[in-house]
Amino acid sequence: MAGDFEAYKCPRDGSQLVPPSASERSAYIRNGIHHCDSCSGMLLNADAAISSFCSEKLEEMHEGFIKEGTPIDIDCPFCDCQMRLRNFSFQRLDGSLTDPIEIDGCPNCTSFWLDAGELHRLSPPSNGNKDARVEANALAMVLEILLQLPVVFV
Ligand SMILES: [Zn+2]
Ligand SMILES: [Zn+2]
Repeated sequence: MAGDFEAYKCPRDGSQLVPPSASERSAYIRNGIHHCDSCSGMLLNADAAISSFCSEKLEEMHEGFIKEGTPIDIDCPFCDCQMRLRNFSFQRLDGSLTDPIEIDGCPNCTSFWLDAGELHRLSPPSNGNKDARVEANALAMVLEILLQLPVVFV
C-alpha cells in the first residue's frame, strides 16, 4: 500500500528505517525504498513502490522466493515471516551477467532486504566517500538502474 508510512526496523541492526516519504531522494520515493541510516541497507517492497515498473519487477522477483531460497535468521520487517536468501545476477544489455549478489526475500509478502555491501560489490564507491548520505544516494541510483535490467537467479 503506498501511503503506509509505518516505521519498520532494520533487520540487521534494529534501527528505525527511514520511510521513502521522509527521504529527499527521488530514487527512494519512486521505488518505495525504506533505508537504514546506520548500515545503508535497503528494504524494498512492491506495494510501497510508486513506480509500477519497479513494483512489477519486485512481484516477479518474489515468485523466486515463494518455494525456493535458503531460510535465514532474519524476519521480514513488514510481516515478520522468516526471510530467505538467494543469489541473483542482473543481465546486461549485451546478455552478460553481473557478478551475483545476495538478496533476502520474504516468501510471504513482496519485501526484499539488500545489504549495502552487496551493491558495493557491483558498484564500488568511486571516490571513497565516507559520507553516509552521499553514499546512500549513490547506492539508490545504482539500484534504480539495475532494476531496469532482467534478473536471473543463479
Ligand atoms: Zn541497518
Ligand atoms: Zn514479508
